[in-house]
Amino acid sequence: MESVQQGLAENIAAVEQRIAAACARAGRPRQSVTLLAVTKVFPVSAILDAYACGLRQFGENYVQEFESKAPQARPLPGARFHLIGHLQSNKSSKAGELFDVIQTVDSPKLARRLDSLGRPIEIMIEVKLSHEDAKHGCDPQDLPALVEAIRSCPNLNLTGLMTMPPWSDDPEPSRPYFRRLRQLAEAHRLPQLSMGMSHDLEVAIEEGSTLVRIGTALFGSRKGLL
Ligand SMILES: *Cc1c(COP(=O)(O)O)cnc(C)c1O
Repeated sequence: MESVQQGLAENIAAVEQRIAAACARAGRPRQSVTLLAVTKVFPVSAILDAYACGLRQFGENYVQEFESKAPQARPLPGARFHLIGHLQSNKSSKAGELFDVIQTVDSPKLARRLDSLGRPIEIMIEVKLSHEDAKHGCDPQDLPALVEAIRSCPNLNLTGLMTMPPWSDDPEPSRPYFRRLRQLAEAHRLPQLSMGMSHDLEVAIEEGSTLVRIGTALFGSRKGLL
């Protein structure tokens, strides 16, 4: 266990260094970027170890998976949990109970369901910027209406946008997607930009990311755990 934590501490230090270097290059203060530790597929011990190393923001993809980790993870003082995977409306009440931030709202219907839970929730809108047939997210065309719908929900606090560019090993192809997300966020006066993962966090920070979602670079490969 100790050696797991030590490896993790080294990984965190390496990621911190990458974030700091990218911020310096972009002329941005280090505090303008939040490191979100993505713990999907890993056991709850990954959250506890990362917490012991000082991390406080955690991302999970699946409501059901986090439900099983929540009894140990939720009581950690100061920890915040973000849902970063697609949310089906039949899981919305569970998600609203378990998560502090839901980054993947993509329809007015889902927003209204979350609002009706009566608990304050921070919301980001997932925007679909590629025409990859897959995938969830709000079409940029529908964004103004969705922003308006969420802003009219008294329990929802809309803070930003998130996106996930098409997968590529090379970080550079992500840049135009990140740039587009930033333009959309500025147009709607939304301060938070959730963009950038292990392989492209530098490009994301150069393009204005305020929250990078990092799994592999902290916890190692998820292959074999799925
Ligand atoms: C898994 C995941 C991440 C983390 O990706 P890594 O490449 O492991 O850093 C970030 N965002 C979302 C939405 C994810 O599903």
